[in-house]
Amino acid sequence: MSDVLDLAGIGAGPFNLAVAALIREKSLAHRFFEAKVEFSWHPGLMLPGVMMQTSFLKDLVTPVDPTNPCSFLAYLVEKKRFYDFLHAEQRTVSRREFADYLSWAARRLDSVQMSSRVQSVLDRGAFFELDVHGPHGRERVRARNLCVAAGKTPNIPQCCRPLLSDNCFHALEIALRNPDVSDKRVAVVGGGQTGAEVVINLLGGHWGCPRQVVWASRRSNYLPLDETPFTNDWFTPEYVDVFRQLSPRRREEIIADQKLASDGISPATLTELYRLFYRLAHIEGDLGRVALLPNRALVGLSCRGDYQLQLENNLLGEADGSEWLNADIVILCTGLREALPPCLAPLQERIPRDEAGHLLLDDAFAAKLIGDSSERRLYFLGTGRTSHGIAEPQLSLSAWRGALVVNDLLGSEVYDIRQSGNFMKWVTHRATQVAVA
Ligand SMILES: Cc1cc2nc3c(=O)[nH]c(=O)nc-3n(C[C@H](O)[C@H](O)[C@H](O)COP(=O)(O)OP(=O)(O)OC[C@H]3O[C@@H](n4cnc5c(N)ncnc54)[C@H](O)[C@@H]3O)c2cc1C
Repeated sequence: MSDVLDLAGIGAGPFNLAVAALIREKSLAHRFFEAKVEFSWHPGLMLPGVMMQTSFLKDLVTPVDPTNPCSFLAYLVEKKRFYDFLHAEQRTVSRREFADYLSWAARRLDSVQMSSRVQSVLDRGAFFELDVHGPHGRERVRARNLCVAAGKTPNIPQCCRPLLSDNCFHALEIALRNPDVSDKRVAVVGGGQTGAEVVINLLGGHWGCPRQVVWASRRSNYLPLDETPFTNDWFTPEYVDVFRQLSPRRREEIIADQKLASDGISPATLTELYRLFYRLAHIEGDLGRVALLPNRALVGLSCRGDYQLQLENNLLGEADGSEWLNADIVILCTGLREALPPCLAPLQERIPRDEAGHLLLDDAFAAKLIGDSSERRLYFLGTGRTSHGIAEPQLSLSAWRGALVVNDLLGSEVYDIRQSGNFMKWVTHRATQVAVA
């Protein structure tokens, strides 16, 4: 069937863009469908001054194919800012610049089709059939293999769901909503990087001058992202290989243990925050406007004119630690959660999952539909934290992941993604002495 693609991609965020950039010149017919009219990367959180948490060298391609025309360095050179960039001596770049790089890469990739939402995916035996609503109407696209990288969905605490409104919303939309917080009491829920960025911008007057800002976090403190060298070794292909060999229970334990390696506040942001609170407290004498509430889990929310937040103070252990807080605006910085796009509903029952509901993926991020005897590959990128570890929802390994998919599709190692022996010996065989030479 000549009109059947070798690969169709759902979504063109960074994860599928990496695949698109790496498959570009390979002899495989491929197209990537993106619902957005124009490329953007988390526009609702594009706040002033926000920085990447990952090195720009961990871009779409460089770790596996440094001469690829979609590299960050190629972007700098084409933008004629290479020397300026170098002299700025930045360890990481602003999120705005990285988003511009991604958008530049998306424009260079002919296989990326914007304004094209995949409405449904049907199983037609030897191929998948996609119903795509594109700029020129509806199109039925057939593809032997599918790569799903459709992003995550906002995690909204159960108690907040019935009360979502213009005054109670997830932070993922904040820059698009541009709320007017002038003279309002604002409660920020969630003590990760997003919470920190929202608090900085609230206190900086970005959305008007709030009467009060209260920042509640379930965590025991405002804790740093661990971006030190040995921790970064968890974000390597070797570590993923080892992680793959562990039992599901052990994997869950490790993911919990490694939380702050992927989900903490950047140390530079923490310093900025502390200095901000210092200035408010000791220079401007305005600390009454701010309250920091660590150890507080949001357990209830009601609305009678204003919002009443019920917070459980975990520090108090067994004691009844319920506290109440009133606010005019509630901003949920409660993270994102894995979810499959609605277009996969027709396949939903046949996508294999473990007892806890996590996707069962093989080494190359592919799932085998229940009852499918064909050789088709159905890849899921960004939704395999339990199967592949904490690096999975992050950018760090996007290039490696993309290369793995391309190698797997072509059935050969077109990208050599093996690493040289590392000094971290994650496992040794029981009867073997640890090799030191
Ligand atoms: C604000 C923010 C900052 C982050 N910063 C970092 C960082 O510094 N370092 C790091 O490692 N990680 C970071 N992450 C985590 C992660 O790298 C990003 O979330 C990343 O965007 C995930 O890429 P993705 O391609 O899977 O999903 P997304 O970027 O969410 O892209 C998915 C795309 O799929 C499209 N889509 C969905 N459904 C359909 C459909 N049916 N048809 C067509 N298109 C569809 C969507 O429109 C979207 O464009 C950050 C996350 C957030 C929210």
